Amino acid sequence: MSNITRAVWSFALWELLSGMSLTLRAMFRRKVTLNYPYEKGPLSPRFRGEHALRRYPNGEERCIACKLCEAVCPAQAITIEAEERADGSRRTTRYDIDMTKCIYCGYCQEACPVDAIVEGPNAEFATETREELFYNKQKLLLNGERWEAEIATNIALDAPYR
Ligand code: SF4
Ligand code: SF4
Repeated sequence: MSNITRAVWSFALWELLSGMSLTLRAMFRRKVTLNYPYEKGPLSPRFRGEHALRRYPNGEERCIACKLCEAVCPAQAITIEAEERADGSRRTTRYDIDMTKCIYCGYCQEACPVDAIVEGPNAEFATETREELFYNKQKLLLNGERWEAEIATNIALDAPYR
C-alpha cells in the first residue's frame, strides 16, 4: 500500500468504520453468551457435581457401609463409621466427606455397588466458610432427597454405555 493510499484511508477513518461495521454485524448474530445465573447451559448426564447419598423408594438408605468408596478415594476425603443394626443389616453411623479435599474424580460413585454415593448435577454449592464444606451424613442424605429425580434420570441415560 502506497503512502498516499494509506493517508487517504487514514483520513477516512477506515479502521474505525470497519470496526463499527463488525460491531453492527455482531449485534444481529445469534448470541453465544448466557445470562448466568438466570440462564444455564446443558449439563451432561455424567457431570460430576455435588455429592449425595441416595435412598431406595421405600426410604431405606442404599449405603451398606462396605467402605469401598472410602478405600478408593485418592484424596482420603471420605470418613465412614458403621455398626450392625438390630435386624442384622449393616449401616453407617457416620459418613463424612471433606469437600475441600475432594477432587471430583468420581471414583467413589464408580466403586459403590449399590449406587448410594453419587455426584449429582448440582454445581452451585459455593460457601462462605470452609466449615460449610465439611459434609456429614445428614447433609448428604438431604442432597440425595433433593436431587433424586435428576440423579435417577442421569443414571438411566448413562446405563446403555456401561
Ligand atoms: S469424587 Fe473422588 S476425591 Fe471426591 S470423594 Fe469421591 S473419590 Fe474422593
Ligand atoms: S456409599 Fe457405597 S461404596 Fe460407600 S460405603 Fe456405602 S455402599 Fe459402600
